[in-house]
Amino acid sequence: MLQLYVPLNFLGVIYREIKQSLTDMDRLFRLLRENQEVADQPEAQPLSVSGGEITFANVTFAYEPNRPILRDVSFTVPTGTTTAVVGPSGAGKSTLARLLFRFYDVQQGQILIDGQDIRQVTQHSLRSAIGIVPQDTVLFNDDIGYNISYGKPGATEAEITAAAQAANIHPFIQSLPEGYRTQVGERGLKLSGGEKQRVAIARTLLKNPPILLFDEATSALDSHSEQAIQQELRRLAEQHTALVIAHRLSTIVHAEQILVMRDGQIVERGTHTHLLTKNGLYAQMWALQQQDEVVVPAVTQ
Ligand code: ATP
Repeated sequence: MLQLYVPLNFLGVIYREIKQSLTDMDRLFRLLRENQEVADQPEAQPLSVSGGEITFANVTFAYEPNRPILRDVSFTVPTGTTTAVVGPSGAGKSTLARLLFRFYDVQQGQILIDGQDIRQVTQHSLRSAIGIVPQDTVLFNDDIGYNISYGKPGATEAEITAAAQAANIHPFIQSLPEGYRTQVGERGLKLSGGEKQRVAIARTLLKNPPILLFDEATSALDSHSEQAIQQELRRLAEQHTALVIAHRLSTIVHAEQILVMRDGQIVERGTHTHLLTKNGLYAQMWALQQQDEVVVPAVTQ
C-alpha cells in the first residue's frame, strides 16, 4: 500500500505544482492576450530611448470597423514631464495606454517615442522601456519578494528591499511573520488595494524604465492610503516621462499637461489652472468632483 501511496502522493504534489503554474500562466496570458494583434516587422530595430518623449500624431483607431474610438488625436509628452488624461467613461483614455504599449496598431497616424514609430521597433524593446502601474496589480502565487523582483529578474535582495523602501511597503513586509518570503496571491496572504499598488510601484522602481504609464484605479482607496500613494507616484513621475490615465482630478492637478477627452477626441488641454479659467468640460468635472468630496464626509458623520 505504501508503495502505491508514495508515487500517488508525489503525483499529487506534481499536480498541485502544475495547477499553480497554470494559474500564473493563465493570468499572464489573459494579460497578454491582446498582444496577439501585432507582430514585429521583419526589419524591426530595438527602440533607442534618449529621454522617452512620447508623440501621438493624428492617431485614429477603432477596435471594430465603423466604430471609431480615437479620432485624430495629437499630443506630445515632453521628456521628463507628466501628462494626465481625463474625461468621461468610455472617452478612450485607456485606449491611448493600450496603443502606446502596442497591444494594437493605429489605423491612421503615428505613435512615436523619441522620434521612432513604435511599429518599426521590436515589441520587446518597446515594452522594456515602459513601466506600467496598472489599475489592479496581478500578484503571482509566490512570495512577496518574488512579486517585487518580477520587475527585474535576478535582482539582488538589497535591490528588492531598496525598491520596497522607496515604495513605502518595506515596514509592512517586515511586520509579516515570514517577511519577504510570505506567500501572497490567491493562495497566500490577500493584500489590500493600496498594498498591491505599492508592490506595483516597487516592481516599477526596480525595472526603472524611462517611461511610466499609470492607470489610476477607478475605485478610491481610503483617503489616507490614497494620499500617500499619490505622493509616491508623483515622486516616481518626477524622474520620468509619465502618462497618467486619471479618474480623480484631485490626483493630477500638478501635471504639466492635462488632456481632456470626450468621444475619442481631445477637447481641451492645458494645466489645471488654465483649464479652470476656460470654464469648459474640465471646469465642470472639477466642480462636480469637489461637490462629491464635500458630500462624502457629511454623509459619513
Ligand atoms: P473608463 O474611464 O471607463 O475606463 P476610458 O475612457 O478609459 O473609460 P476606453 O477603455 O479607452 O475608455 O474605451 C473606449 C471605448 O472603446 C469604449 O466605448 C469601450 O467600450 C470600447 N472598447 C474598449 N476596449 C474594447 C475592445 N477590446 N473591443 C471593442 N471595444 C472596446
